[in-house]
Amino acid sequence: MKSLVMTKIGDPKEKTIGELELREFPMPEPGPEDVLIKVAYASICGSDIHFLKGEIGNLYDRIKSELPRQIGHEISGTIEKAGAKAMAIGLKPGDKITAFYNEFCHSCYYCRDTSDDKKIFCPSRKSHHDAMSQYVCWHMSQIYKLPEEADLRDACLTEPMSVALQAVEKAEIEIGSHVAVFGGGGIGLMIAQLAKMAGAATVTVIEPVAGKREIALTIGADYTIDPISEDLVARAKEITGGMGFDIILESSGAASAAKAAPDIAVVGGKIIYFAMYNPAFDMSVNLFQTFYQKGLIMRGVLFSDRCVERAVRMLPRMDFTNIIQRVHPLEDFDKAFADMGSGQYIKVILKCND
Ligand SMILES: [Zn+2]
Ligand SMILES: [Zn+2]
Repeated sequence: MKSLVMTKIGDPKEKTIGELELREFPMPEPGPEDVLIKVAYASICGSDIHFLKGEIGNLYDRIKSELPRQIGHEISGTIEKAGAKAMAIGLKPGDKITAFYNEFCHSCYYCRDTSDDKKIFCPSRKSHHDAMSQYVCWHMSQIYKLPEEADLRDACLTEPMSVALQAVEKAEIEIGSHVAVFGGGGIGLMIAQLAKMAGAATVTVIEPVAGKREIALTIGADYTIDPISEDLVARAKEITGGMGFDIILESSGAASAAKAAPDIAVVGGKIIYFAMYNPAFDMSVNLFQTFYQKGLIMRGVLFSDRCVERAVRMLPRMDFTNIIQRVHPLEDFDKAFADMGSGQYIKVILKCND
């Protein structure tokens, strides 16, 4: 069976990009608690591009030492084979599924304290980065069954959906809020849709790529702003009746966006940061102005499996028609990564089996 591997990592200083290669691997054999997944689709995450470019800060040396290394974590497929324990909990060959790439120990302090998504800090966490394969073998605790009628193309977006869902939940959007989303990428446009469902009066997507702004309007955004050619603060005031946005979700990862967010927030507004920022980027915050005078709430969001099941339930309510813009067969991984790396497309996915 074939699997995509990263054979070389880019150098962020020299702005070089890494290399990928499709290699032959032995068919994985599931243990009693494992599931062998025949991968239908694997989606390219913005973070995959950062890894390939080496824009991963202090993880760089570790990742470089692990090369060649498989890649991919956003997945959908069908169960090919299930171990005895996996079968006992109701997972069986032929089931349509999606999966969460992190496998947790479920026993440590972080796994058991479910109050605030601490699981990600599980010291025994095993991340499966091999989704861009024909087959993968993952633990039964990572598997989420899909209904029979589920669209596997959409379902490979479950993991980014779970991040979007978590960000919207952390934002605690009150009905009637003015919401702004920086970034018209996959997660940004999922957030725009979820924010509307959560009761936002208006949703504004702030995005420099014209095509992405157009699509934002088709999936329910009320306004878009081009942060390059337009006056961001003036437009924010215009949209919100002079007040500023109640909730701002920063999903673009751009330093300029991260810095601009407090400038367009209403007094007492909330800002959620959750993109993969350049590890060398530091942001200074004037504490007097930001917290004492403006009363802003700023927080970050990582990822969690807490939202995955609910992300699955929301899949049929999402509009991904214009979000999945390119589907390439696994063999055409170079074209797929070039498309995603160009920044012009929202989501590019790989079809991993016929
Ligand atoms: Zn991802
Ligand atoms: Zn743990």
